[in-house]
Amino acid sequence: MSDHTSTPLVTGSNAPRVDLRSDTVTKPDEGMRRAMYEAELGDDVYGEDPSVNCLEDMLAERLGKDAALLVSSGTMGNLTALLAHCGRGEEVIVGRGYHVAAYEAVGSSVLGGIAICTIPVEADGSLSPDRISAEVKPDDSHMPVSRLVGLENTHNGMAVPLDRIAESANAARSAGLSVHLDGARFFNAVTALGCAEQDLSDLVDTVSLCLSKGLGTPAGSVLTGPSDLIERARRYRKMLGGGMRQSGVLAAAGLYALEHNVERLAEDHLRAARVAAMLEEAGAGTVEQSTNMVFLTPRDGLNDAFRAHMAGCGVVVGGGSAGAIRLVLHKDIDDPAIEDVLAGMLDFFAHCPGH
Ligand SMILES: *Cc1c(COP(=O)(O)O)cnc(C)c1O
Repeated sequence: MSDHTSTPLVTGSNAPRVDLRSDTVTKPDEGMRRAMYEAELGDDVYGEDPSVNCLEDMLAERLGKDAALLVSSGTMGNLTALLAHCGRGEEVIVGRGYHVAAYEAVGSSVLGGIAICTIPVEADGSLSPDRISAEVKPDDSHMPVSRLVGLENTHNGMAVPLDRIAESANAARSAGLSVHLDGARFFNAVTALGCAEQDLSDLVDTVSLCLSKGLGTPAGSVLTGPSDLIERARRYRKMLGGGMRQSGVLAAAGLYALEHNVERLAEDHLRAARVAAMLEEAGAGTVEQSTNMVFLTPRDGLNDAFRAHMAGCGVVVGGGSAGAIRLVLHKDIDDPAIEDVLAGMLDFFAHCPGH
């Protein structure tokens, strides 16, 4: 389950007041819209958009990398990174449920002739260094050339500890591979780990991060890394049709988000913990929570009944008729909204069959 699970959204007068499907649903607030309105603009394909240049320089510096590139989406961030790291007939080793392997329409294989070698993801969201080492191919004309390891943090909301990232990265490096981090929720990871941004980014060669999830911009992701790699990624961005012109309107939203919406991610994590605690107390089923996400597998297969009840309370949740329901906390859910959510849930589990 991810940001593609499309529980249909009711529109019009029945529109939900609280959307828990994903942190991608956040809308730019007044301050962000004002920053977009006031942004200084130029043509970014000419390298002349001051707002884009400012955002790229700021993120490169914050993450301790040479350079950065604004792209349209997290998918494009990962794709340009993989194309820049790997040539045709080369492979990236990634976790089986990682976004790059599972939710990007295998763009790197389709467009770049890159093989995706998947290995199981460990319970903490990391990749085992032994499994990585075991998958690196020998120099043999029967096989692809192993070039890159792709890590992900956070993964399904789990903030993977720095030492686990370091172990995976070391296994990659000692076999001569580079390391890309899909940090769509990079700042959620850093917030939960309580570390400096560079403590995480220093462990890998390239990082892609999303501005449009918890940070709340309408669109945009940024890839950071060494200058030669970012220059190659820039060419691929153009090739993919991702060369945007006055994209400073998006960069300005990103700059605003970096200033106003990073520290507040801790509030989303606290609210997620509160929702999880309440669900556990109510005996709702199996509950797992990390950073801004709660996964609830309702007892007695009550998925559809739970979803319908919550919809009646103006709350839309993700997931299918079986398995876990995903509840994602974000900037557009404040404390009064959380009270609605908690009241609706308590009411359901106090009165549903089996009690
Ligand atoms: C959302 C997400 C992406 C892709 O971002 P889009 O902007 O939706 O293309 C990549 N990786 C992870 C882990 C994500 O959660």
